[in-house]
Amino acid sequence: MLDFGFLGILWLMLQSRLFTKVARNFPKDEEAINAKLLTRAGFVEKVSAGVYSFLPLGLRVMRKIETIIREEMNALGGMEILMPALHPKENWETTGRWKTFDVLYKIKSREGKEFALGPTHEEIVVPLVAKFVNSYKDLPVYLYQIQDKFRDELRAKSGLLRGREFLMKDLYSFHTSEGDLDSFYEKMKKVYTKLFSRAGLKTRIVKSSGGTFSKYSHEFQVLTPVGEDAVFYCEKCDFAENKEIAEVKEGDKCPNCAGKIRVSQGIEVGNIFKLGTKFSKDFELLYKDEKGKENHISIGCYGIGLSRLMGAIVEIFHDEQGIIWPETVAPFAAHLIELGEGKSKKLYHDLQKAGIDVLYDDRNISHGEKLTEADLIGIPLRLVQSEKTGAKIEVKRRDEKDSKLMTVSQVIKLLQPTTYNLQTIT
Ligand SMILES: [Zn+2]
Repeated sequence: MLDFGFLGILWLMLQSRLFTKVARNFPKDEEAINAKLLTRAGFVEKVSAGVYSFLPLGLRVMRKIETIIREEMNALGGMEILMPALHPKENWETTGRWKTFDVLYKIKSREGKEFALGPTHEEIVVPLVAKFVNSYKDLPVYLYQIQDKFRDELRAKSGLLRGREFLMKDLYSFHTSEGDLDSFYEKMKKVYTKLFSRAGLKTRIVKSSGGTFSKYSHEFQVLTPVGEDAVFYCEKCDFAENKEIAEVKEGDKCPNCAGKIRVSQGIEVGNIFKLGTKFSKDFELLYKDEKGKENHISIGCYGIGLSRLMGAIVEIFHDEQGIIWPETVAPFAAHLIELGEGKSKKLYHDLQKAGIDVLYDDRNISHGEKLTEADLIGIPLRLVQSEKTGAKIEVKRRDEKDSKLMTVSQVIKLLQPTTYNLQTIT
């Protein structure tokens, strides 16, 4: 019997069958390096400013990022749900945000009913929790989703860093007390730091304004000259503040240690907020405590922009030749380049049998073109088998200059998929 599932996978991994092709030039209508590289290499395609299609290579990266996020959220006790993008106007009127949320997309049905396209989901998740949670015994509860969000941004010139439609993970936590919320919030700081480092990014936890609901919130910023935000940070300890609220300035002494305060641009890849009881008051979200007394539930919310994270990774990891994907989020583990006529077919099947994700460039184009495109696409390991290498394989890491000769079994061992050891953070 033919296993079509397997064939489906097989076709995708042959570059001759890949739906997208690398473009000869960078797109003319993109300014940001992430959008330039991702578009040219065939990961994404712009539909309009801030709105992108994710193509086979790009979606594979997105799925890897999703997997890391799901693993960490589930390990924390998070339960995944999926809420709608279409929100009735009444829900947003209940919180007063129909008028005040400046980037809210508003639409009207044929019958004149008004909706918002969800930029965040407090207006949906809070009444949902009110249906199922009554007692202190039902708490705490952590609900999350990975879903498209919509924001009516005036400027959307940063590629995947600022989308009008973008993929986001949002988790909402519900607690009997501010104290319980506080300790979960601190736990989430550690989980986020670990999660971003699994995706290859070193983040700083940056104190920033809390908006309308709390005194402050925290952003997870990747410090890089291309970021949109300015961050004051201590060169010695982990003190950091967003410039918009900062109580320090460049050159000051750190309030925590004797270190010097420096300034850097940053890309925000995640944020966490304590919402307190604002939304539970709006929707009368109450629980009964041990004595039967009714109290408002305390809420926290925790976001990660997945498409933005993908853009940030490209901003950080690239060179003149193209993208350099961290192994954990790369679309494939290895890129096998055919330089002879079908010489690498056996190796390709051996790697597949060993469960290794490999993109096989079986196309009939020049060797030079193949190698240039491989650098642009940025898969972490390049494998070449040719007359010169004999029975061995030339293995080159995308982030290194020199290559090594290895046997097939050495390559398989090197590429063996590793399972991540999830340690619960307490
Ligand atoms: Zn310090």
